[in-house]
Amino acid sequence: MPELPEVETVRRELVPLLTSRRITRVEIYWHRLIDRPAPEIFVQHLVGTSITALRRRGKYLIFDLDSGEHWLIHLRMTGQIYVRQAQAPIDAHTHARVYLDDGGVIHYRDQRKFGRFYLVRDEDQVVGDLGPEPLSEDWQPEDLAERIRGRRARIKTLLLDQRVVAGLGNIYADEALFLARIHPACEGGRLTEAQVRRLHRAIRQVLLEALRARGSTMSTYIPPSERRGEYQQQRRVYRRKGQPCPVCGTPIEHMKLSGRSTYFCPRCQPFSC
Ligand SMILES: [Zn+2]
Repeated sequence: MPELPEVETVRRELVPLLTSRRITRVEIYWHRLIDRPAPEIFVQHLVGTSITALRRRGKYLIFDLDSGEHWLIHLRMTGQIYVRQAQAPIDAHTHARVYLDDGGVIHYRDQRKFGRFYLVRDEDQVVGDLGPEPLSEDWQPEDLAERIRGRRARIKTLLLDQRVVAGLGNIYADEALFLARIHPACEGGRLTEAQVRRLHRAIRQVLLEALRARGSTMSTYIPPSERRGEYQQQRRVYRRKGQPCPVCGTPIEHMKLSGRSTYFCPRCQPFSC
């Protein structure tokens, strides 16, 4: 599932291809892809506009349009975006094509079909509840502490809550908790100040490492350049059950937390919370 580093990689690769391009035609092959407005309104409003900027908020891509509206895309599990030539073939997983004035065509593919498009004037209707951006200079350990204070939920579950911090998913939550030496099942509100500081630093470190590696290609995530992400080669615990911990050599363990697969080192991340 694309998380912050994957979505940011997609954004960076799309910027030179899409900035200032005018949209000339839109084809939607699966209407439930459009969360809002109605698909025919979505198409009507998009055609004729130009893309003035491409931003990211959490796991959302945001296309700013010269009409004043914003086109948001959430890739969810298996969404993929490619820019191809008009004659490029489509397949059963291609759910939309957006034609550009330079002959390029945005292809949206999605095997599991959980991804969604939104077209709104006020982007806060979609992203207004998201917590802070973890790579922003403004994000401080105190903010993280504030958002988990008194919470009974487990810290791993809280890190996946996009209102606590935006952009983390299963891979980078596990990796950050390992680096911070915190057991994923610890109650969030019981973390010490030192633990919260370590976690804050670990989240940034893991996300920056993953960005440099252009994300993790472990299933369907392949960015527009079709150069796969490489963070999976550096991961420390995620999907490494039974393999030695890179710090102490203890076999990595696996557990389910709120239905999510969770990986940790029982020695580096003791359940002493
Ligand atoms: Zn260890």
